[in-house]
Amino acid sequence: MIPFNKPFMTGRELWLIAQAHANGHLSGDGRFTKQSHAWLEQRTGARRALLTHSCTAALEMSALLLDLKPGDEVIMPSYTFVSTANAFVLRGAVPVFVDVREDTLNLDERLVEAAITPRTRAICVVHYAGVACEMDAILDIAARHGLAIVEDAAQAIMSSYKGRPLGTIGDLGALSFHETKNIISGEGGALLCRDEQFAERSEILREKGTNRSRFFRGQVDKYTWVDVGSSFLPGEITAAFLCAQIEEADQITAHRLAIWERYHQWAERHEQAGRLRRPIIPADCKHNAHMYYMLLPDLDSRTRFIAEMKAKGVQTVFHYIPLHSAPAGLQAGRAHGDLPNTVALSERLVRLPLWIGVEEHLESIFAAADDVLS
Ligand SMILES: *Cc1c(COP(=O)(O)O)cnc(C)c1O
Repeated sequence: MIPFNKPFMTGRELWLIAQAHANGHLSGDGRFTKQSHAWLEQRTGARRALLTHSCTAALEMSALLLDLKPGDEVIMPSYTFVSTANAFVLRGAVPVFVDVREDTLNLDERLVEAAITPRTRAICVVHYAGVACEMDAILDIAARHGLAIVEDAAQAIMSSYKGRPLGTIGDLGALSFHETKNIISGEGGALLCRDEQFAERSEILREKGTNRSRFFRGQVDKYTWVDVGSSFLPGEITAAFLCAQIEEADQITAHRLAIWERYHQWAERHEQAGRLRRPIIPADCKHNAHMYYMLLPDLDSRTRFIAEMKAKGVQTVFHYIPLHSAPAGLQAGRAHGDLPNTVALSERLVRLPLWIGVEEHLESIFAAADDVLS
């Protein structure tokens, strides 16, 4: 069976973990965490980058930083992972689900303004497949209505919009290093603070509500409990693994893009024959080849495609079940309108295996899919 995903390792992970072990510093915020922070800040231009134990944790930190109160509303797509909504629901906030664009499956910025109420506090965008939302329009709406922007950039490390790295365009950004993402540490994530506004408080929330980070920098002579908080940071073993990955982030991205391009060229003939629709990358977006998906004509053809590909030894998978119609989404959230694109596209989308090393199987994947599609 050719798997849908296979985590890539550069080969340096164990060596760096051995160094963390030898350093004798295994809890968080040691040398490897600092190295990761420096790399993320340098590569993204974020004022502050902080490793977390997941993207989910970084989203939860965002909800805390925005001081959301029960009943506050956060506009977001329904076509996303549960953590996008849960992070805010945990604070008692109400997700307001808005439909996605037909071309990118990203939050449809043209529908956002109509979903704003006096309780709206923030917009949480999701850059699906590492392809940016229409951020200029969203920034403009947020500025006019005094709303914060959180970017769920879980899939979007190394992607950009008009040259700006994703995760640093809104006030706060959340990255994921889960093993299904491009750059990994098993479980892992990072919070990006675009500017000074949230930089200091984010350190405090992450360190159990204490000013321990300032203490370690010698800025205060003892550390104490100053705010709410939790333990959101990973240990040094995880950070050491991540360091081995970020050393090769450019090569990993280039390698994935080459595989993505091969899928895209292969699928062109089928698109022209009307059998599927390929991903659409807007001109302003530089993506990171997080995912290669296709949109088949309907749910039946997708179900058949997945089953027949499986019979031919290729694992292909669908993606999100829309949150607005899920049991918890119905209870905790509210849909703005009918979300026709979310409903239809989520039934048609199928993802193909994209991992470093899959290139030696591409010809057999193409042959299997040619067979199933025609
Ligand atoms: C993977 C993913 C998450 C969750 O990331 P974790 O690091 O597993 O918490 C959240 N949102 C989106 C859009 C994702 O793809």
